[in-house]
Amino acid sequence: MKIIVQKYGGTSVADAQKIRRAARRVIKAVENGFGVVVVASARGKQTDQLIADALELNPNPPKREMDQLLSTGEQQTVSLFAMALEAMGHDAISFTGGQIRMLTDSSHTKARIKSIGAERIHKQLDKGKIVIVAGFQGIDKDENITTLGRGGSDTTAVALAAALGAEECEIYTDVDGVYTADPRIFKNAAKMDEISYNEMLEMASFGAGVMHPRSVEFGKKYDVKIHVRSSSEETEGTIITHEVPRMEGVIVSGATIQKDMAKIGLVGVDNIPGNAAKIFAHLARAKVIVDDIIQTEVSPEKANLSFVVSGSDLNAAKKAVETIKDEVNCDRIFVREDIAEVSVIGIGMRTHYGVAEKMFGALAEAKVNIDSITTSEIRISCAVDEDQAEKALNVVCAAFELDKSSQQRSKS
Ligand code: ADP
Ligand code: ASP
Ligand code: MG
Repeated sequence: MKIIVQKYGGTSVADAQKIRRAARRVIKAVENGFGVVVVASARGKQTDQLIADALELNPNPPKREMDQLLSTGEQQTVSLFAMALEAMGHDAISFTGGQIRMLTDSSHTKARIKSIGAERIHKQLDKGKIVIVAGFQGIDKDENITTLGRGGSDTTAVALAAALGAEECEIYTDVDGVYTADPRIFKNAAKMDEISYNEMLEMASFGAGVMHPRSVEFGKKYDVKIHVRSSSEETEGTIITHEVPRMEGVIVSGATIQKDMAKIGLVGVDNIPGNAAKIFAHLARAKVIVDDIIQTEVSPEKANLSFVVSGSDLNAAKKAVETIKDEVNCDRIFVREDIAEVSVIGIGMRTHYGVAEKMFGALAEAKVNIDSITTSEIRISCAVDEDQAEKALNVVCAAFELDKSSQQRSKS
């Protein structure tokens, strides 16, 4: 039997009417001969509400308890979804992450999937049932409930598609595909027909919230065709797939903005072997995810080191550097909380020049100051003041003509 995984995000299952609409789409796939596995998110803004409930009782809630709480959002959706399907005359069964042995590590609130037990799902599909799985959650080796980080249901879906050998993983959401930039911020963004895994991974990792970054990693690693599309319209969306030579003709494919970032700098660290290792060992132990590390030698004896973390990791990161400060003989620690990163991404950058010049020029003309710059082979990111970030994204998008389709841009 050919299997398809369909993932429905929060807004696509926000109320009974939307669940029914999603269920009708599922039934269509069943009628086309597919075994269907649905992955569903918590309804509407429920995850945000649960977080607010927790913070009202405890400003610093234990992460294990957070996962225990947040996983209930998805658990409600899947049973409601199964009930809707039953009412429409189709056999369905819902599972939590734990029930399908979605095993993760123990990093509560940002756990990583280690393995998935596909047998239970296959058994139900063979019986002719539609299987509904709660996204975003798993269990660790001690049976504690874990969650995969905000937006993590995409990762559940793509990982399941890989484990089940599905034909395709469809991501149903409130936009009709992946755009050159977040259409809520750059109003004239253009929809893409396709995008390479590598570009989507950079876009997702640097703020394009339409896909959870880990889901793209899974897709690339296990060759899962991902189709991002609208849950309310019958249009073709965007295919995330392997790179083909024609994609290199487009120099910049997309631009992103990442807010809620903070930069931590250690000024005047002793410039001796092992100090960077010590600092990052502390951060790793505190389970802090670190980006954009910059180390510069300021004299033969001293070096400055800075890195960027997300707002949610800031407290843990501060604590970690405070404990190592004296050991590395650091003169001063500075923290900037109000930064955002604006990035341009494109595999064409590997073979074309002038991208940096154009990006910096557009920011300069708009009087946006660049705090720091980092690059990968296919990305340039500039840290800017958070309150200038949206303006920065818009001017960068205009400079690279991201209101036009990639075909139009590769011709010009
Ligand atoms: P879901 O609840 O379905 O997972 P999300 O809110 O996580 O939906 O993701 C969809 C949102 O991602 C869109 O509404 C859009 O504002 C945002 N987004 C950010 N960057 C992009 C982009 N490049 N293309 C499309 N959507 C984007
Ligand atoms: N419900 C979770 C969140 O809001 C997971 C998801 O939607 O993918 O982040
Ligand atoms: Mg999402």
